[in-house]
Amino acid sequence: MNKQLIDPFGRTVEYIRLSVTDRCDLRCFYCLPGDYRDFSEPEEWLSFDEIERVIRAFTTLGVRRVRVTGGEPLVRKNLPTLVTQLSNISGLDDLSLRTNAVGLSRQATALKTAGISRINVSLDSLRPERFKDITKGNLDKVISGLMTAKQAGFSPIKINMVIMKGVNDDEVEDMIEFCIEHDFTLRFIETMPVGDTGRSATSYYLSLQDVKNRLAERYELIPGVMPGGGPARYVQVAGTSLRIGFITPISQHFCETCNRVRLAVDGTLYLCLGQEHKFEFRPLLRAGISDSDLLEAARTAITLKPERHEFLEKPQQVVRFMARTGG
Ligand code: SF4
Repeated sequence: MNKQLIDPFGRTVEYIRLSVTDRCDLRCFYCLPGDYRDFSEPEEWLSFDEIERVIRAFTTLGVRRVRVTGGEPLVRKNLPTLVTQLSNISGLDDLSLRTNAVGLSRQATALKTAGISRINVSLDSLRPERFKDITKGNLDKVISGLMTAKQAGFSPIKINMVIMKGVNDDEVEDMIEFCIEHDFTLRFIETMPVGDTGRSATSYYLSLQDVKNRLAERYELIPGVMPGGGPARYVQVAGTSLRIGFITPISQHFCETCNRVRLAVDGTLYLCLGQEHKFEFRPLLRAGISDSDLLEAARTAITLKPERHEFLEKPQQVVRFMARTGG
């Protein structure tokens, strides 16, 4: 039995972004509308056992990495229980979490004990008022969550900052100093036309090539460090241990080396962040599919994976909000 998932373009799929909820306790304006309420209902959610079955099938076929995400994963009740189930799946080498850290102070230790080794935290500003404008949230909660995670021993801790022209691009250097001080890894992300909110945010689009050039005037940037499982291209700031990753879906896409798919909370597998190609697992699971047929279903799903996004050619293409699958 072929233990690899090769898509129609010869790429090996070895990474799943697992959205355990489409709900969130923040409202980042480039992701979810402030008054959004049309979330999926609990009866539509995959149960922890169903999630485990799907992840186990994909792991049998070569998936090695799972990132738990949302919406905001920490709002899903008993998340450490699911993490324990996933961490017991043999062959899963890398189990990480992406969070906005609002609830991290309460859950960091339990998640670490359950099996999360490293975390990515979304943080677009270090200024309380600006943070509130972008997310409708409280910055203090996020910072205390981050500090609790540091004490709990997660490593690395990566900061994801969506760079927006005229919104927070004047904070790039502050965020670098913050990450140097706390020994965090920093990743800059370009805005993407995912959902109406993402499309409206592209009016604040700023190419990270411009940001990199600006930083090179102030810092000596050493290229080619820290290979990761994802799309970030890393540099190191000379004289520090800081690594900065640039995630550039618009200015320099990385689709030719794509290794991932996204499982939404309702069991829909999205084959590409920038397309609507999908495969439904929930009806199969609820119809009592066997383990061997589930493997076949996973293989079939990967044959649907498109070559790349068309964010520039068809910016209206992706209807769903980012919270549906996580980044
Ligand atoms: S846009 Fe699609 S093909 Fe490109 S890297 Fe993202 S998921 Fe992969």
